[in-house]
Amino acid sequence: MAGDRHGHAEESAEEQAGTPAPALSELKAVVGWLQKGLPFILILLAKVCFQHKLGIAVCIGMASTFAYANSTLREQVALKEKRSVLVVFWILAFLTGNTLYLLYTFSSQQLYNSLIFLKPNLDRLDFFDLMWIVGIADFVLKYLTIALKCLVVALPKIILAVKSKGKFYLIIEELSQLFRSLVPIQLWYKYIMGDDPSSSYFLGGILIIMYSLCKSFDICGRVGSVRKALKVLCTPQSYGVRATSQQCSEAGDICAICQAEFREPLILLCQHVFCEECLCLWFDREKTCPLCRSVTVETLRCWKDGTTSAHFQVY
Ligand SMILES: [Zn+2]
Ligand SMILES: [Zn+2]
Repeated sequence: MAGDRHGHAEESAEEQAGTPAPALSELKAVVGWLQKGLPFILILLAKVCFQHKLGIAVCIGMASTFAYANSTLREQVALKEKRSVLVVFWILAFLTGNTLYLLYTFSSQQLYNSLIFLKPNLDRLDFFDLMWIVGIADFVLKYLTIALKCLVVALPKIILAVKSKGKFYLIIEELSQLFRSLVPIQLWYKYIMGDDPSSSYFLGGILIIMYSLCKSFDICGRVGSVRKALKVLCTPQSYGVRATSQQCSEAGDICAICQAEFREPLILLCQHVFCEECLCLWFDREKTCPLCRSVTVETLRCWKDGTTSAHFQVY
C-alpha cells in the first residue's frame, strides 16, 4: 500500500511539473519491460551456459593457461641475462602438454585441421560450433607464439644479444597476429554459405562480399604492421653515441638503470649516460629518458617486451 501511495505521489508530481518528455517515458517503459523480462533472460542464459558447459570450462582453462604463460614469459624477458632457462622450458612443456591433451581429448573432431585451413570433422556448423573451432584455434596459435618467444628467450647471448631480442619478439608477434587473422576466414565462409541446400545463395553471396571487404581491410593493416616490424628488424637501432670515459665519470660511473658500473655506455641527446643493453631494454617499453623524461624514441613499438596479445580473433 505504501508503495502504491508513493507511486501516486510521483505521478501527481510529474503532472504538476508538466508533461514528461516522450523520450524519457519510452525509456521508462523499456526499463520496466527489462525488469519484468530479466528472470526469463537469466533462465535462458543459464540454459545456454549449461548446454555449453564443456566448451565454457575449456575456454576458461585455456584463457588462464595463456594468462599464466604470458605473464611468466614477460617476467623472464625483464630479467635479461638472469632469466632462468628452467622456467622457460617449464612454460614450453606446460603449453605443449595443454595443447596435446586438448587436441587428443577432442581428436574425433579433428580441430587441428582449422590450423592448416582445412575443415574440422563436424557434421554441421552452427554459431556455437564456429565459436568453438575459432576459439580453440586462436588459443593454440597464441600458445605457439609464446613457445617461439620462449625459444628466443632461452637463446644464449653468444647467438643473440639480449638487446636485439626485442625486435624478434616484435616480428614473431606481428606474424602471429597476421596468421591468426587468416585462420578463421575459411570457417566463416563455410558458416555464411551454410551446408544445407535450402539456404539462400543470394543472401549468402552478399554477406560473403561484405565479410571479404571488412576482412581485407583488417588484413591490409596487419600486413602493414609486419612490414614495419621487418623494417625495425633490418635497421640497426642507435639511441645515442658511445660515451667517453670522461662523460662516464661525470655521470658518476654508475648506470641509473642497473645500478652497476657502465658496460658499453651510450650518451643520449639529453647528456644522460646508460649501458647500451639497459637502454635497449628500456626503450622496448618506454619512449623517454629514464632520468629526465625527455622524448628519445618517436614511436613506441609494442610487443618488444615479449608480451603476446590477448585479443580474441573471432572473425
Ligand atoms: Zn646499466
Ligand atoms: Zn635524460
